[in-house]
Amino acid sequence: MKILVINSGSSSLKYQLIDMETESVLAKGLCERIGIANSNFVYKAHGMTIEQQTDIPDHNTAVKLVLDKLTDKEAGVISSMKEIDGVGHRVVASGEAFKQPTLVTPQAMETMEQIKDLAPLHNPAAIVGVNACLAQMPDTPMVLVFDTGFHFTMPDYAYMYAINYQHYQKYKIRRYGAHGTSHKFVAQEAAKYLGKNIEDLKIITCHLGNGSSITAVKGGKCIDTSMGFTPLAGVPMGTRSGDIDFAAAEYIAKKEGMSISDMLTYLNKQCGMLGVSGVSSDFRDLSVASDAGNDRARLALDMFCYNTKKYIGAYAAALNGVDVIVFTAGIGENDSRVREASLKDMEYLGVKLDAQKNVDCPRGTIAEIQADDSKVKILVIPTNEELVIARETMSVANLA
Ligand code: AMP
Repeated sequence: MKILVINSGSSSLKYQLIDMETESVLAKGLCERIGIANSNFVYKAHGMTIEQQTDIPDHNTAVKLVLDKLTDKEAGVISSMKEIDGVGHRVVASGEAFKQPTLVTPQAMETMEQIKDLAPLHNPAAIVGVNACLAQMPDTPMVLVFDTGFHFTMPDYAYMYAINYQHYQKYKIRRYGAHGTSHKFVAQEAAKYLGKNIEDLKIITCHLGNGSSITAVKGGKCIDTSMGFTPLAGVPMGTRSGDIDFAAAEYIAKKEGMSISDMLTYLNKQCGMLGVSGVSSDFRDLSVASDAGNDRARLALDMFCYNTKKYIGAYAAALNGVDVIVFTAGIGENDSRVREASLKDMEYLGVKLDAQKNVDCPRGTIAEIQADDSKVKILVIPTNEELVIARETMSVANLA
């Protein structure tokens, strides 16, 4: 059983071919700069990497390149496209239109068209990706897997904004959250690793990467999450502001002569770590700059860790306690200083880090980093969103 996982961006297409018997990656890579000069194709399989500078004018060409390489006599990992049993497509936003992973049908794609503007940068790209795959593999079952899916178990008082209720009814304005596949995966992995039933656990999952979100998971179900109607809300991120008083944004817009759409671009692309530090959105650059005495880089990092800590505290309250805190994604898995600062002075909650285990934390594997007398387990777990998408694809397309 082999599942191809596709993650389409507006000018990129990431892919993984997963053998579901062993849940191992047979091949993976990406097409970059689709429709832009100097397109690039990367293919990794058999322990080697092939990089090709080649013209990729559109997503159809990208999908064809991927399939050609996967079935290539020398570099390939399958003998024909027929060996691909299903294709799982990552979709960022679902609105309330899709609460579960959904089989691709003409009707589902019609609904996808209707919710395009919920994620104007991402959802149209997913549609293009699905159509490109359908063009090459018309008879292969395909499934839409939504980043928002895991969060539909939130109670209404957690997902509602205090706005005119009619606007919720009319436009479905509410908290949807994001990174659902990652939160779900690491929460399940945590329970498995600890040998506990997930139904008995209160878990706070911190997906800290270029985009960051924190989720409260009770009995395996999401009860609250930090991202909102869009992935702009929550902790400050690489280039996103995170939570901000809307009146402050309006004040800046008026003073700087920005339209609403300018303001959204500003809040999504020019704020966060980049905006505060003026150095970079990348935490590695921020650490170097901060260590060299750049006070704005120090401030950006302090803001990130303080806000992460605030959400952990809030979710411990929402969960009525916490058994496990999980760190995952680029920063969560790799940045020991962020983990330490985000968990500082939480002994009152039973959270006590082992400073040495935190620093020595091995990469690419599950690690426990709490002190021996910590009541709360603190785990670093590599995320695997593609595997969740592949599993959902198998189950929805009845391929098991
Ligand atoms: P992601 O979005 O999960 O791929 O995470 C990307 C972010 O993780 C990058 O922008 C970096 O800020 C951060 N990151 C990746 N590797 C490291 C590392 N070794 N140390 C600190 N931060 C890292």
